Amino acid sequence: SHNVDYQKILNQIGQEFADKPRSGKVASYIPELAKVPADKYGMHLYDLNGNNYCFGDSNERFSIQSISKVFTLSLAMKVVGDQLWNRVGVEPSGDPFNSLSQLENDSGIPRNPYINAGAMVVADVLVSNFTNPKAALLAFLHEITGDTSIDFDPVVAASERSEGYRNYAMVNYLKSFGNIENSVEDVLDFYFHQCSISMSCRDLSNAFIIFANDGKVMGSDREFLTGRQVKRINALMQTCGFYDEAGEFSFEVGLPGKSGVGGGIVAVHPERFAVTVWSPPLNPKGNSALGMASLERLTTLTGFSIF
Ligand code: GLU
Repeated sequence: SHNVDYQKILNQIGQEFADKPRSGKVASYIPELAKVPADKYGMHLYDLNGNNYCFGDSNERFSIQSISKVFTLSLAMKVVGDQLWNRVGVEPSGDPFNSLSQLENDSGIPRNPYINAGAMVVADVLVSNFTNPKAALLAFLHEITGDTSIDFDPVVAASERSEGYRNYAMVNYLKSFGNIENSVEDVLDFYFHQCSISMSCRDLSNAFIIFANDGKVMGSDREFLTGRQVKRINALMQTCGFYDEAGEFSFEVGLPGKSGVGGGIVAVHPERFAVTVWSPPLNPKGNSALGMASLERLTTLTGFSIF
């Protein structure tokens, strides 16, 4: 029952959706993202036997946006350990990714590290703990992927900064509660850069395989994250990885995952695979509409969800 032909299933998914009208809208609040063609569509699955399966635009790099929050969380957990949880919670917010409203009642402690407020606190931790946090983040990505060409897109970072009023408000608000140690400008410079990282579906599946492989890269015994850390990172993806649609993603797909407003979604089957899909048009909650539908088909056709 476990002999699944992943390539056949991916081909089937690609064909099923090829001619269907696309729903959703490409993110435009970051001006550079609005320029990305809406018809881009690709998917890449990397399994724990080291095999790669893909279709479409799976090798084209795009803006990973909030998917970067999984990488920065991983790095912060490595650097400060359980102290992190004094400054950020682990509960789903049920609110949009950029919501400010809960911070007032929660005394400036963001609900979780995958909403913007939580990611700002994680960014602040990295700015405090590295002399060059941007280089440290890239070094982490280069180490886990073995690919040193992964980089920031300075044009996307500058574009987000130019319109980033809400994120400026958020970091200022967090700082008023004493939950930001560094300057607002330094935290946001790091945050806009982490969001601007360009990776393909293939790159992301390659990076996320550590979350399916007990914190190790493929073919190596080197542990980048402990089993306990991976358990927690995946649990947060399951409960908080999709803004105010984490329940819906669990219901439809049944895997831990993380989306970004660039239209990417990565999902992990612990002990089987990491899979990434990219389609820029977003549903009203900010998740790739076709991406979610494709992953729903994947777990239905393979029978491989965590449930
Ligand atoms: N850089 C984006 C923002 O802060 C990320 C949003 C996302 O991908 O959810 O608005």
